Amino acid sequence: MMELIFEKSRPGRAAIAMPDCDVPEINIADVIDKRLLRDDVDLPEVSEVDLVRHYTNLSRRNFGVDVGFYPLGSCTMKYNPKINEEAAALPEFTQLHPFAPVEFAQGSLKLMYELNQYLCEICGMAAFTLQPAAGAHGELTGVMVIKKHFEKKGEARKTILIPDTAHGTNPASSALCGFQVATVRSGSDGSLDINHLAAMMTDDVAGLMLTNPNTLGLFERRIKEVAAIVHAKGGLFYCDGANMNALIGVARPGDMGFDMIQLNLHKTFSTPHGCGGPGSGPLGVAAKLTDFLPVPRVVKIDSGYAWSDAFPDAIGRVRSFYGNFNVMVKAYAYIRSLGAEGLKRAAENAVLNANYIKERLKPYFDLPYDRTCMHECVFSGERQVKESGVHTTDMAKRLLDFGYHPPTIYFPLIVPEAIMIEPTETESRETLDAFCDTMIRIAEEARANPEQVKSAPLTTPVRRLDEVQAARKPDVRWKD
Ligand SMILES: *Cc1c(COP(=O)(O)O)cnc(C)c1O
Repeated sequence: MMELIFEKSRPGRAAIAMPDCDVPEINIADVIDKRLLRDDVDLPEVSEVDLVRHYTNLSRRNFGVDVGFYPLGSCTMKYNPKINEEAAALPEFTQLHPFAPVEFAQGSLKLMYELNQYLCEICGMAAFTLQPAAGAHGELTGVMVIKKHFEKKGEARKTILIPDTAHGTNPASSALCGFQVATVRSGSDGSLDINHLAAMMTDDVAGLMLTNPNTLGLFERRIKEVAAIVHAKGGLFYCDGANMNALIGVARPGDMGFDMIQLNLHKTFSTPHGCGGPGSGPLGVAAKLTDFLPVPRVVKIDSGYAWSDAFPDAIGRVRSFYGNFNVMVKAYAYIRSLGAEGLKRAAENAVLNANYIKERLKPYFDLPYDRTCMHECVFSGERQVKESGVHTTDMAKRLLDFGYHPPTIYFPLIVPEAIMIEPTETESRETLDAFCDTMIRIAEEARANPEQVKSAPLTTPVRRLDEVQAARKPDVRWKD
């Protein structure tokens, strides 16, 4: 176990040396209300070398895409070219104050304006807002737009339809906006059950939120029929675009009949993510919905670019300032450096890599939906449970012993013992093979030596933790 930084603390030790004070000293208590001052702040006192070693050692226990293969399905944990980080770190961007007069911010405004246009082109939408700070935030903004659309029409529709495969944020975003959520079933081929949808789609339904490719990693092939059913009853068709990594440059949600889509720039467009961000979840809409997008918006004027609030039907502001600008810079750099051809190739390789893994692992794990997959494939660990009582979670823990981040497990909920693998386009054939070899070895171990798999991980700094306890009653305080 590592000592905490507090346990390394020794009174009087410091990692900084302050220069002599060259201004008159004042007593802070004379200028600030005493009640606001605390003298009981218990900060660790450590030397510089102890400080550096502590955090360097901590960081070496972390796992990230720069360290190894990270096939976390639904999350698109792909390698992001460092050149895009460099662009986002340019002082011309980072030193710009968000309240700087527009004359001094023309470059940044232009970048946002053009990124907006690129996203419109990629998705087949009429306009985007870049304000939302995450995928779920983009969904929420989208549902607010849906609500406003029906308010303007004087209709009080109460329900949003969501498939049983959906990401949990979809019902959460709908419920937060005051909608009831009703679940549409998936058929035996892993696609939305169209008959069930048709039966549920009444004129009390505001819309359908669908992920395409869906969260089983499968393309919804009858997408135009689905759109027609929703539109025939006056509903709006929302695309959860978190899976766009499979489609960029190949197919456009707008052409499929979707009225709106949120993108996760931190998945598809080159921002590393995890641990809470920063992210960006732009929302794109079709022409009939552009009036409702948040303000302020970047507009083009004769002398360049400006902010405008002059959209009376806008839902308002959904984020402080203009969103997470540095993420937009990375997306812009990514799109410009790959170009149309490169983006398409990225999507094609993401799909190819997922199908390669699917074919190699198919003999060893149950594959509930045996179809060509998109950017991710979903296996089930049911065979292992039946044969030897080894669960998906055990195999995921065992992967840690071999230096892999496990895939997403137990999601989507409709697949028992789900193992959801998303390799992404940035992995080589050798990496994919090494991972598949390891998965096959674990499947063999599960049969020959189930106890070994059930007691994994064996080589990590901490062994198996009580996940329920950690999630429900996390103990994150050093002392009471
Ligand atoms: C990741 C994801 C979301 C939520 O995005 P966040 O940025 O984590 O809020 C929504 N839907 C799907 C399908 C996702 O994979």
